[in-house]
Formats: sequence, C-alpha cells, structure tokens
Amino acid sequence: LSHLGDVPEMGAYRYGDRTAFRTSYGQEITYEGLEERSKKVANALIAEGVEPGDRVGLFVPNTLQFPPAYFGAVKAGGVAVPINLRMDPDSMVYVVDNAEVDVMIASDKVPGGSAEDIAAEADVSTVMLPGGSDDAPDGVDVVDYDGVVEEASAELDRPEREFDDVAVQPYTSGTTGDPKGVLLTHENLLTTIESYSSGGLPIDPDDSILLILPLFHIYGLNALMGSFLYVGGSMVMQGVPNPTLMLNAIEDNELTAFAGVPAMYNMMFREYEKNPDDYDVSSLDYAICAAAPLAEDTVEKIETEWNVSVAEGWGMTETGPAGCVEPPRGVQKEAGCVGAPVPNLEIKLVHPENRDEVRVAPEDLEPAGMAKGTLDFDDEDSVTGEIAVRGPQIFEGYFKLPRKNDAVFDDEGWFYTEDIARVDSDGYLWMVDRADDMIIAGGENIYPAEVENGLYEHPDVAEAAVVAAPHEIKGEAPVAFVVLEEGVEEGVDITEEGLREFSLEHTARYAHPRRIFFVDELPRSATQKVQRYKLEDKAEDRVD
Ligand code: ATP
Ligand code: MG
Repeated sequence: LSHLGDVPEMGAYRYGDRTAFRTSYGQEITYEGLEERSKKVANALIAEGVEPGDRVGLFVPNTLQFPPAYFGAVKAGGVAVPINLRMDPDSMVYVVDNAEVDVMIASDKVPGGSAEDIAAEADVSTVMLPGGSDDAPDGVDVVDYDGVVEEASAELDRPEREFDDVAVQPYTSGTTGDPKGVLLTHENLLTTIESYSSGGLPIDPDDSILLILPLFHIYGLNALMGSFLYVGGSMVMQGVPNPTLMLNAIEDNELTAFAGVPAMYNMMFREYEKNPDDYDVSSLDYAICAAAPLAEDTVEKIETEWNVSVAEGWGMTETGPAGCVEPPRGVQKEAGCVGAPVPNLEIKLVHPENRDEVRVAPEDLEPAGMAKGTLDFDDEDSVTGEIAVRGPQIFEGYFKLPRKNDAVFDDEGWFYTEDIARVDSDGYLWMVDRADDMIIAGGENIYPAEVENGLYEHPDVAEAAVVAAPHEIKGEAPVAFVVLEEGVEEGVDITEEGLREFSLEHTARYAHPRRIFFVDELPRSATQKVQRYKLEDKAEDRVD
C-alpha cells in the first residue's frame, strides 16, 4: 500500500488553484481553497471539543458547504457521519442517536428539516449552523458555523490517526429495514478511490461531472467525489434532482460524465423526450449507473438518443462502494451486466446457504473489466451465487451490531453480501437480485428483476416492482405493483387483465405476476431504491 503515503490530502497540494467544485450560480472552490477551509473547519471542531474518534454529524445537502465540512471532520480526527436528508425526521433521530453524534455541522438550506430539533431529540450537544440560532431548543448549544470557521486558523496540528482508524460512518439506504452504520476506515476509502481511478473508472483531470447523487451516500461521497478529487477533476454541485436542472447543468458546464441511479435517468428521459431540441448533451463522454437494476429500455435510450455508452456498476456502502464496473468506453453488454471487479478486490460466488464456492472469479478475471474468455462453464445455473468479497476496501463491520457482523464475515475475511449474481464466460458479473427478494413459488426460484423487466417491455409501464404474496399451494407467488406512464389511464388504456396477459408472453409462465396493482408511486428509500418490504406488507392478502 505504498501509494497511500501521498493520498491523505486528497490531491489538494497537487492541484492547487484548479477548480474542484462549482455551482450553476457561479460560486466555486479550488483545490487549495478546499484544503484551507477544511483545516479551518477542523480547528473549529477541535475548539468545540471534538476528539479523535468522536462522531461528527453532517446535516448538509449537496452544496459547497459539504466538502470542507466532511474533510474538516476527518482532519479533526473525527468520524464523519453524513446524514440522509431525505429520511423522515424519526429516522433521522434514529440514525443520529444510533451513531452517538455529539457535534453536528448543519445547513440552513435543508428544506423542512430542522437540525436543532433533531439534535435535541437525539442528545446532540452542539449544532454548528451558519448564522447560529435565536431559539435553540433546550440542551442544544447552537454555534454560528460561518463565524467560528472564519475565525479559526488555517494551520492545523493534525491529530494522530492511523490508516485503520474509522474515518466515516455512512448509513445503508434502509432498503431492507433500519439503516445500518457502516464503519469505513481511511484505508477502506483510499483503496476504493485507488481502485476506481486506476482502472475502475476512466476519469482524468479534464473530466467533469455533476454531483447530483446525494453526498450522504457512499456512491456520491467516495466513488465520485473521492475519485474525482484524487485525479484532479472538477465537479458541479447540485442538490435537487430536477430533470430540467440536470440537463441544463450538463449543457451549460459541458460536463464529460454523468453518474446517477436508474430513477434519475428515467426522470431525465421523461423530460428530454418531450423537448429533445431544448437540450444539448453532446459534451458527455460516458454515463455511469449503479445502485439499483437498470432497465434494458433505459440503456437503449441513453445509447441511441444521447449517443453515450453507459457503464453499469455494482457496489454497497459496506464495500466503500468498490465492487464491479463495466469499462466505460469499452465493451458494453446488455442491461444487468455490472462488469468485472475493480482492481485489488477479490470476488467469489457462493451458495447462499452453505457458502460453498460455485465459482471462484479472482484468479480467472483480469481486473477492471479487461476480462478474457478464460472461464468455461457448462450451464448458467452453475455460476449463479451470492457475491462474497474480500480486500482492503471492505468495511470493518457494522456499528453496534456484533451478531450481524459475525453472520456476514467469515474467518478468512470474506464478506457475504446477500446479493445474487452470475458470471458469464467473459468474466463479467450480472446482477440477478438480492437473496432476500427471491420469491420461492412451489420450489421455483423467481427473481423479481426478471419479472419486472418483462413488464417494462410494455410501453405504458413507467415503473414496476414485483414482490411475494402468500399463496395457498405454492407458499409464495409473485404480485406486481405498477406505476403507469403519464397520461395512461387505468381501465381505459390498460387493464390488470391485459397487462397480466402481456406479462405472460414476456416472462416464464411460473414467474408471471398473479395480481397487478396500479399505484401512483412506489415507496422508495433516499437513494431511490424500491422498499419492497413495504410493498410486501401491502400484498399480504393471499393470491391464488
Ligand atoms: P439496506 O442495506 O439498508 O437494506 P441497501 O442495501 O439498499 O440498504 P446500499 O448500501 O445503499 O443499501 O445499497 C447496496 C445494494 O444496492 C447492494 O447490496 C445491491 O443489492 C444494490 N445494488 C447496487 N448496485 C446495483 C446494481 N447495479 N443493480 C442492482 N442492484 C444494485
Ligand atoms: Mg444492504
């Protein structure tokens, strides 16, 4: 790990007065500006009593306040806890309390969210808020953030921290239950950044990207912001995932890359297709999509209407989020292919119950998608299994969940992800689904994503989610929740019966949804993932 020696300053000294971040309103921060401001924040935090290992909550959206607050917390020796600002207040209190946050850096630009009230309920003693506050709740000391940072010194006497000390504790998305605190060390973050910038992603200093993915999530925080800072690229900060604003930002800033989650692409195309002449996205060289399954349909739109190749990736908060990625500007496969493991990450596929290897990938796979046709399989089934990963990117464990930690790690350091994938003969991984989401209908394994893809073939279907409902004979059976395209009317343009018949033609018979419910929207987590457990509660009536 010799490369780690010169990484911790995140390139600040190397890239001097280059622009690191800008906004569409003309503000910007240079690399040295980021370094200076972060040190001031660190000194201000230390003055507030932050000691090495203390949790510093970040209640800050994607604004120029975020990067110096984050690096300031880390430079102060603290553990940054970025808080998901799209959660409901009760969940925020849960996270802040669970993380044992003592000092919180807050923004006055969080719509509807009051950092002070959440702090009061979660026993946070100090909130640092730009401008301070006139009516702080009892027990919470509200400090004027801008004031104390302005006054703080830019010379930092850095507290002693080791590579294997925890630097950040992001929370998982809460797709399958309560969000879990993920302990990521300096080494985890830096080796992940190394994995991306040395082959995982094709970023160079001339590249620029829109930071629209929330920075409280590891994808925006480390895969994008971390990697771009490391190579000296530039980023346009945007907080609101509004499709018109996103398309304008690409055009106005001549951005070379866009990275998002499937829902963002869908949103953008809904707008773009209405007025394609209003937008020019020709500056884009590549697009990246991860975090949830991307529909074939969307891949096709990105490639044909924008003329950009899209690389899908797979990762998790727990992996920092190093995982797999298709080589952008390289071989693209159909939707669902998430590419090959990033450099320095070992991956194997195992049987989800007994953890026997179904196929070992690492020795056979060339890193970063330079896969060769060296694997030789008899049939597809033999290479489908749960992804297990091992490497310097992988987290230390979940915060305060010892039993869960025992269950997900083995003695040899493998982390079992509960994600099911298959590997093809080129050495590329294909996401199948979460082990948990698999529906077992009369002994047949049904992966919701396959059934959903069948539904997406229908032009009237905007969004679809398939979950298990109880079935008298088969135990479980798939049912679907569908959001229709704008303007399509249920009962007039489309019926449940009609869509079920369509689905029968596009899905294996045993897997077709027994009921289809039309809904206005799907319940989603802050990273836009469908919260199936909420739909399962709705589908508790038996089907037959
Ligand atoms: P929680 O762990 O709280 O239930 P979560 O698993 O959604 O939430 P994250 O760490 O944000 O929390 O997401 C990681 C998960 O996202 C992966 O385990 C995987 O299931 C899913 N995922 C990531 N990339 C992809 C992808 N390209 N296609 C399909 N699913 C993906
Ligand atoms: Mg998870």
